[in-house]
Formats: sequence, structure tokens, C-alpha cells
Amino acid sequence: MHIETLAIHAANPPDPVTGAAAPGIHLATTFARGEGGELAGDFSYSRAANPNRAALEAALAALEGGAAAFAYASGIAAIAAVLQTVGPGDHVIAPLDIYHGTRTLLKEFSRSGVRASFLDLGDPETLKAALLPETRLIFVETPSNPALQITDIVRVVEIASAAGARVAVDNTWATPVLQRPLELGADYALHSSTKYFGGHSDVVGGALVCREGDATAARIRELQWTMGAVPSPFDCWLIRRGLMTLPLRVRQQSANAGAVAAFLAGHDRVARVFYPGLADHPGHATAARQMAGFGGMLSFRVKGGEPAAAAVVARVRLFTRATSLGGVESLIEHRYRAEGPDTPTSPDLIRLSIGLEHIEDLLDDLGAALSF
Ligand code: PLP
Repeated sequence: MHIETLAIHAANPPDPVTGAAAPGIHLATTFARGEGGELAGDFSYSRAANPNRAALEAALAALEGGAAAFAYASGIAAIAAVLQTVGPGDHVIAPLDIYHGTRTLLKEFSRSGVRASFLDLGDPETLKAALLPETRLIFVETPSNPALQITDIVRVVEIASAAGARVAVDNTWATPVLQRPLELGADYALHSSTKYFGGHSDVVGGALVCREGDATAARIRELQWTMGAVPSPFDCWLIRRGLMTLPLRVRQQSANAGAVAAFLAGHDRVARVFYPGLADHPGHATAARQMAGFGGMLSFRVKGGEPAAAAVVARVRLFTRATSLGGVESLIEHRYRAEGPDTPTSPDLIRLSIGLEHIEDLLDDLGAALSF
């Protein structure tokens, strides 16, 4: 089935008892046993599994074309789950341009002996020199946050598998509507469900999807309830509902972002636009090959440095000044200030999450904010 159909129907049948066309929310923390100790169904205690999480996980696996999916209480908990598959002495390679929370998490794991190196994965050939006998995992984020670097997933998988390392792709910014890491050979697809999956800026969650035959899936399932960073039934219900409109939302957000990128690229106050859909983006050819659209996120550098970037952000009227991304409303953020003093992000960089407003209204707002 096509992704539009799966988004609506995967693990979402009418309720067999009431016929309700929308799923109920099962708040129960525990499930009754019969006199002989037998359970009525697959559930015993809600941290281990519950009906709303099971439905969400089945839908996530279907959308990413994976064999098993695991839902978490946040995107960063899903990334932590992948890092829990490596141990002391193991080496992980991650991109230099990466969500700053993932960088912080990798530093946290280094306390328990997991070594991390950060590389420019815009050129996967650099991996070869960085691989060590202990390299177990290559972590890819494409497009990356916040500079929209593109990494060639197929090439990373070729280099990693020759070295016996696994590949995890943070697919948050592309979503399975635009990019299918497991089909490109990656071992794991990761998501902050807080973003496009939820889609309405009202739920925090994360997801990890494993490919068919993955040897670590059973361990990940065990760790999911042992570590306990599980989402609530209501959060699972909200994310499952968000998935129904994911393909429509992402395609429209991508079209809007393409128009915003073209507008900014022609603006004389803009020094540089980072959007893989632009022909002069260094990752354009790779993105055109591995993505079915260039996504709803973009960043740009303003002429005039940090004060000019802060002024533009202060002047918008329609865009919401907020962190996060992937919701129906457009967001703007001066990323340097959000990430703090040790960030590698340029001080004049503004990040946009493009929503579903009319494109003319978005361009008018940005045009007015840039006229000072
Ligand atoms: N991965 C990427 C690419 C992100 O942009 C984010 C958050 O912005 C995360 C992971 C973390 O997600 P969460 O905030 O749901 O933990």
C-alpha cells in the first residue's frame, strides 16, 4: 500500500467491540488476569506495552518500511535507545552539524566509555580515515539541524558495512514521506515524533524503527521497558492521529519551503540560504537522488551578523518565535542564541520551520522583517 493509505489505515481498524471509527485511549496502567493467571490479550502492565503504543508502533513500522518500531517519550530518548546498543570502549561517528541535543547526549554517553567522533559527513569518504576497529555505529542526520547538510546514506552504508558498523539515520527532518533510510540500507530510522509526526506542536515523542532481521531489535524492546522512557497512551494517540495527515502536510510544507528558499536566495539582505532544493546547495544532487522532496526546513544567514539576525527575528509578525519544528504553524529561531556559547552554529543564522499558511502571507512577513 502507498504511504497515504498506510498513514490512515495501518493498525487503525474500527473498534471490534463498539465499531468506533476512531481509536479509544486506554489509560489503564495494568491489565486483569483470570483465575489461572491468564491475560485477556497482549498487555499486562502499561510500561511494558499498552494498546495505544502498540497501534502507534505498528503504524510507525509500516510507514518506515521496517520490521519493528519502538515509541519513546521524546526524540532524544529514541536516540538514547540506539546508543544503548553500544557499550564501553565502542566508538560512534556522528556529523559535525547535528541537533545540539544529540551532541550533548553523545557527550553524556562518553562518561560511560562510549567514544564519539564528529565528522563532516557531507563527504562520506572522510569516514574511511576515521573508522577504528571499535567503530560500531555511524549516526547520520540528513538533512541536518540546523545547517541542512545532506549525507549520502547509501555511501555511508557501503563504508560502514565494510567495516562491520551499523548505521542509524535521524529521519526527523525528512520523514518517511520524503526519505526511506531503511530502504537505502540503514539499520535504524529515528524520529523526534514531536515534529512532523505529531505535526501540531502539542505532543513530545520519539520513535526508533529497525529493519527486517535486525539482531538488536529484541534487546531494544527489552531496554524500552527496562529504561522506562515510554510515552503515555494519550501521547501515542495524538501522534497516531497526527500521522494520518503526515503525507499531505509534509508535501505542502516542502512546497512552501521551496518558495521561501527561492525568495530568500534572491534577497539582497540575505548572505546565504541553506536549502537542499536549491541547485547551488552542495548536497543538492544527493538530496534529489535520495529524497522525494526537499522538506519544510531551511536556514539562512543574514548580512550584518548577529544583531541583524536578531532584528529580523524580532520583526516578524506571522511567524512564531519559538524553538522546535514540523508543526502546522511557521516558526522562526535565532539558533545561535538558542544553542548557547559553545555552539558551532553561525551567529547570523536564522532557522525556519515552514508551516501550512498561505505562501504569500509567509513571504510578505519575511519581506517586511528583512526591510530595515
Ligand atoms: N532529532 C532532531 C533532528 C531534532 O531536530 C530534535 C529536536 O529538535 C530531536 C532529535 C530531539 O527531539 P525531542 O525534542 O523530541 O527529544
